[in-house]
Amino acid sequence: MAWNTIQFQKGLSLPKFLEKYGTEDACRQALFDLRWPQGFRCPACDNDTYCELKSRSVFQCHHCHHQTSLTARTLFDKTKLPLTTWFLAIFLLTQSKTGLSAMALARHLGVTYKTAWLLKHKLMQAMRERDDAKPLSGSVQVDDAFWGGERRGGKRGRGAAGKTPFVAAVACSAEGRPLAMRMTPLKGFRSDSIDRWARQHLSPDAEVTSDGLQCFGAIVETCPHWRIVTGGGAASMQTQEFTWVNTMLGNVKNAIHGTYHAIHGKHLGRYLGEFAYRFNRRFELDRMIERLAYVACRTAPLPYRFAKMAEEHT
Ligand SMILES: [Zn+2]
Repeated sequence: MAWNTIQFQKGLSLPKFLEKYGTEDACRQALFDLRWPQGFRCPACDNDTYCELKSRSVFQCHHCHHQTSLTARTLFDKTKLPLTTWFLAIFLLTQSKTGLSAMALARHLGVTYKTAWLLKHKLMQAMRERDDAKPLSGSVQVDDAFWGGERRGGKRGRGAAGKTPFVAAVACSAEGRPLAMRMTPLKGFRSDSIDRWARQHLSPDAEVTSDGLQCFGAIVETCPHWRIVTGGGAASMQTQEFTWVNTMLGNVKNAIHGTYHAIHGKHLGRYLGEFAYRFNRRFELDRMIERLAYVACRTAPLPYRFAKMAEEHT
């Protein structure tokens, strides 16, 4: 295997998927087991005995009589779509290497573009939140990048109008293999932004390597355990230290350009998060459906009006 080849495992076949998630009943049961792995718990009082009002598809607590649905307070909250459509969307989005546009998703699912768009953004949000909760550790390569322009051309484009700055980080094993990646849009490459980013996304034991953009110094100042190895200049980009983060940046740009006609900078975080989520689980493709559904059960609802808003940047 060439050093820059990204290997993906075989995923779940469509027949196997349909066997597991082909009917509404199967999807309901799967979601119930994912949401309450230890059995039903009342969200109001934590009691575990209940009855199911089948006609209205709700569970009523025996103790406090609180009624809840399978999907209430989850990413599936108030959905009008069958769960089979949700699971098929999860299948399509997780099992493809480069992702799927909302347009393609609409075609596959037989829903409107708006419905597919919202479905996709909800699932991307779940992917992103999941990874954001796991700080990177070990040997981490960090680099600055921009969406919407040449990364290394001319004046390096820093601060250029219309471009969205983001941090790209890759955690590698002791053997130098990439384990996990994270890409996060920032307000700008300022020390305070980098500082907030580092506190959220790097574990205290991380050994950070960067090519020496001034603001990355903030990582060291606030957290003395992090070590910045500064190469500096174009020459450093050829060294082994930075090859992975550069390879990943090339991959993500090709993948996103190849899949989407255009993406809006205000939603860049979700698109980058989606790419990283799939990359980080590339060796467990067949388990991704169940795992994303599990995460979706634990992700807050995202109504359309909020999904449309610009994402907050660090
Ligand atoms: Zn209760």
